[in-house]
Amino acid sequence: MHKIAVIPGDGIGPEVVNEALATLEQLVENDDSLSVEWEVFDWGSEYYLKHGRMMPEDSLDQLKAFDAILFGAIGDARVPDDVTIWELIMPIRKEFQQYINYRPAKQLDGIQSPLHSKKEIDFVIIRENAEGEYSNMGGHLYKNTHQEVAVQNTVMTREGCEKVGRYAFDFARENNYTSVTSATKSNAIVHTMELWDRSMTNVSHDYSEIAFDSVYIDALAASMVQQPEKFGVVVASNLFGDILSDLGSAVVGGLGVSPSANINPEGSYPSMFEPVHGSAPDIVGKGIANPIAQIWSLALLLDHLGYTKHSNIILSAIESTVRDQVVTPDLGGSYSTKEVGQAIRDRAAAAFQEAE
Ligand code: NAD
Ligand code: MN
Repeated sequence: MHKIAVIPGDGIGPEVVNEALATLEQLVENDDSLSVEWEVFDWGSEYYLKHGRMMPEDSLDQLKAFDAILFGAIGDARVPDDVTIWELIMPIRKEFQQYINYRPAKQLDGIQSPLHSKKEIDFVIIRENAEGEYSNMGGHLYKNTHQEVAVQNTVMTREGCEKVGRYAFDFARENNYTSVTSATKSNAIVHTMELWDRSMTNVSHDYSEIAFDSVYIDALAASMVQQPEKFGVVVASNLFGDILSDLGSAVVGGLGVSPSANINPEGSYPSMFEPVHGSAPDIVGKGIANPIAQIWSLALLLDHLGYTKHSNIILSAIESTVRDQVVTPDLGGSYSTKEVGQAIRDRAAAAFQEAE
């Protein structure tokens, strides 16, 4: 029996997580070979307003007992964003050594890309997720004076860079991508990015069949818009990968359809699966949040636990729902969150009946 911890979080998080859980429940009812149970945790901004912290003191110990985490989103106007992020997402990512952030940018049949290219877009961003630019090291001097100075340290380790590089190349090899592109800025950021470049180049020597290229992040962003079809695996540091993955998701239809995985490849700790999007305060409570990114994140979670068949059934159901244009307003439709969730479940159920 696999155990899944579910943290719906804030804003549209609970709205889209409900649809993912209803999908999981239906899969479990349909098939005994899917052996999972889950527990929902009410951590997030409401919890913070009541208890003065985003999650309980022993939360990480509680989560350790699970095989995977399904996360919605956090962010609430009543709580500073740096509190929500540094007291909930970051501790989980860092403590559980989820140093890989995997974000596919795959265009689904039926979703219009804002770009004119008719070529198929299917690339993957592998983002370093545990060190780099996202650090709380540094500080202010002479705060609130005219002489104020702020310093923010980027910390990269050789081991950290090589591990993410190796993961990217292995992923390319195992999934038939022919190229790995590394995002860099070593012309301006001369210490950490030089280490990044050297690590990627070193790793690339072990993968002679995969084309390797190192591209400055600014030019890379431009070509992701102009020629997105040419990318295979893109490997990037924490900050660059964060920005590129929102861009990647935009070129294949937007945040509403973009899943992600925070992976601890060694399996020593649970990995965490979440949509790329945040809590979307502008549409919360309207019932129109797109549940696809969250349901797709569930599919990534099931695949990670070895339930490849169930993961594929969910993905096909998502594709067929989109092809039939049962979509929320962000994709140009007028269906609700629940209607899209139900349409995906109907198609998943039909797939099971066909298989029997
Ligand atoms: P956001 O992703 O919440 O929203 C950006 C835009 O995309 C909004 O217009 C929103 O309506 C739209 N959108 C997002 N998800 C959608 C969905 N499923 N269906 C339809 N439309 C969708 O980003 P933001 O506005 O920059 O941030 C809002 C809050 O979320 C902030 O507090 C921020 O810190 C937080 N945030 C959290 C995470 C996370 O939990 N991992 C990630 C990003 C932002
Ligand atoms: Mn982001």
